[in-house]
Amino acid sequence: MSLPPRGVQRDYPLARLTTIRTGGAAELFARVGTLEELEQLLAWAQARRLEVGVVGSGSNLLVADAGVRGLVLKLDQELSKIELDGTRIRAGGGARLPAVSARAARAGLSGIEFGVNIPGSVGGAVRMNANAYGGELASVLEWVDVATAAGTERRVPEQLGFAYRRSGIAAGEVVARASFALRRAVAGQITATLGEMRARRKQAQPSGIKTFGSTFKNPQDARAEGRTAGQLLQDAGCGGLRVGGASFSSKHANFVENCGDATTADVVALMAEGRRRVKERFGVELEPEVQVLGPVEFPAGWSGS
Ligand SMILES: Cc1cc2nc3c(=O)[nH]c(=O)nc-3n(C[C@H](O)[C@H](O)[C@H](O)COP(=O)(O)OP(=O)(O)OC[C@H]3O[C@@H](n4cnc5c(N)ncnc54)[C@H](O)[C@@H]3O)c2cc1C
Repeated sequence: MSLPPRGVQRDYPLARLTTIRTGGAAELFARVGTLEELEQLLAWAQARRLEVGVVGSGSNLLVADAGVRGLVLKLDQELSKIELDGTRIRAGGGARLPAVSARAARAGLSGIEFGVNIPGSVGGAVRMNANAYGGELASVLEWVDVATAAGTERRVPEQLGFAYRRSGIAAGEVVARASFALRRAVAGQITATLGEMRARRKQAQPSGIKTFGSTFKNPQDARAEGRTAGQLLQDAGCGGLRVGGASFSSKHANFVENCGDATTADVVALMAEGRRRVKERFGVELEPEVQVLGPVEFPAGWSGS
């Protein structure tokens, strides 16, 4: 391989860029600060037929223990800025969603309060169609700039193929910027809503643990009888279940915790056991919500993503 562009590092450990803290290194890794630099790197990678992966805040990500071939990108500097423009907020794909919510609240802008508890980036939230407490990303998202090796294209929500925890953003496409159209409201009220949301979250979910949040999607299967993935796992006896260094949280069974020395293989084995128990007990096949980077082998038959 010819010499990579300046700023591209080899064998870069990725575990610390994820909230579960497992997995190996990226063959090539770069932090990208501007749209121009991003387009150049994508074109460089395409010319060399390198696969391109993106890490946002790594809050829904399992990295392969064997590492990731090709180029892994993380957006920062200009591509993680948050800017106010009247009732709009424009944010880089690398901006943190809770920071966008907090900035909106300070400016007396309502509509993106639900982002306060989603520890992801704007790009990751768009890719995953993240939401919470009935908040809808699509209802406040005005457009996103999606960068590819061929250049950057502006897409509106109708072009983003949003479905439950899914979008049409394809592998190799990078959400570089987004614009949110918000509405004026009383700043004190928005701040109070954020406080309530934080308190509700603290009560329902474990905090201060290494996790990627919800492991499986909530099933749309009549046999689940309206139960969430977490309730099914709990009822199938998975709360506190441990494989190697990974366990299902006893407070919220759909959260996997890295108890200190977990590998991605431990997490996958734990997920397989949880899924097996739920299938055996309720006939429901859980589908992973967590995304993977590199060769993470989910057992055959998992639809996953
Ligand atoms: C404690 C906790 C609570 C959570 N609560 C919620 C919740 O309430 N609601 C919810 O929806 N989710 C929740 N999550 C999951 C997670 O925060 C969201 O899915 C979030 O949107 C992921 O964003 P990220 O930047 O961390 O993405 P990552 O985990 O880094 O990546 C996820 C996927 O998005 C891709 N990606 C990341 N950035 C970009 C980009 N710029 N362009 C293109 N693709 C990109 C990655 O390649 C990967 O495929 C929670 C997670 C944790 C740890």
